[in-house]
Amino acid sequence: MSLIPARRSAASSPLRLLCLLSSLGVAPLAAASEPELTATVNPPEGKGGGEYVHRELYEHLTESQREEVWANIHRNIRALEAEGRLAPPTTLANASLAWPLRANGIPDPGYHGISNFVDHNPSYTGFIRDFNCGTRSYDTLSGYNHTGIDIYTWPFSWQKMDFNQVQVVAGAPGTIVYRSDGNYDRNCSFNSGNWNAVYVRHADGSIAWYGHLKNGSVTAKAVGSTVVQGEVLGVVGSSGNSTGPHLHLEVYDSTGKLNDPFQGPCNTLNGNSWWLAQRPYYDSAVNKLTTGGAPAVFPTCPTRETPNEKTAFRYGEPVYFTTYYRDQLNTQTSSYRIVRPNGTVFSSWTHASPAAHYSSSYWYWYWSSFAPTGPSGTWRFEVTFNGQTHVKTFTLSP
Ligand SMILES: [Zn+2]
Repeated sequence: MSLIPARRSAASSPLRLLCLLSSLGVAPLAAASEPELTATVNPPEGKGGGEYVHRELYEHLTESQREEVWANIHRNIRALEAEGRLAPPTTLANASLAWPLRANGIPDPGYHGISNFVDHNPSYTGFIRDFNCGTRSYDTLSGYNHTGIDIYTWPFSWQKMDFNQVQVVAGAPGTIVYRSDGNYDRNCSFNSGNWNAVYVRHADGSIAWYGHLKNGSVTAKAVGSTVVQGEVLGVVGSSGNSTGPHLHLEVYDSTGKLNDPFQGPCNTLNGNSWWLAQRPYYDSAVNKLTTGGAPAVFPTCPTRETPNEKTAFRYGEPVYFTTYYRDQLNTQTSSYRIVRPNGTVFSSWTHASPAAHYSSSYWYWYWSSFAPTGPSGTWRFEVTFNGQTHVKTFTLSP
């Protein structure tokens, strides 16, 4: 805690008022819908943000598209085996997968979220059970129960796609047994288009599907080529039946049976995890921390977002401090600090989300006239969340 006195008048700050009411034991009427906030010194003037909703994702492939994929995979495997280019499967049940995404030239601590796991409940519609006995999946009227893992990019999915900032990589080494590219990749809603995808068969005969890749980004390697673990297969995109850039990862064991790469009490398909290191069900983290002159703008899909990021400010300019989260829980408190160039604390406050779980969320805090008398130099915006502290520096000048 800092001993630096608050510089703002309490009455002019709604955040301070909320804080004051809470300290008096008075529950403000808005408490149920307002995020919990406690400012300890010089609180921000205002706030915004909340959940960022990734819309329900569709079934990725029609039944006939799915049949066509399998026909191609089986035909290619037969041909490769006949040519002696593909060894018969070993007896292992499944491959061991490394994380199938990689940041490409972006310094942020995170870049993804998970919107859907495999649906293990065969009933439909609306009967959902993921591997952890939760409901983070979906099914459809046609009887489709989600068959893979949807990993989306966050924040700024379209910017990330346009600048190739998140790549799909092979989770396990293997042989490309089918691939498709050349399909439109800026889809936002239901359509009958095909996706761009790479299908990798592992030494044990299991197969991983990597779908929705960006048009033209698919590896140039032909069917029959081998890939190593971590090798780039493409860029996260929104080709095919998709509502925004994400990877749909789908895995099959050597008998062709659908598996769920995540092991948990409600996984009815397979008894072991495919992951070398399975991530937690709630993989809570800060994905990105920014300073800017305005809040980020999220236009209608598929227009690229405007992050409004900026790190050099003049005295008295508006400054927005934004944190982007994945899997934020209401039991997790973020501690924020803004630190002057000399190391003293200009402002500090804490916050927790009002919702039990947001797959993706962001919160910003602002001053419409930040530090009108300086001091000049390099300042720090810090957030401590879930045991980790992240720092974003910015400069202030007269
Ligand atoms: Zn999916």
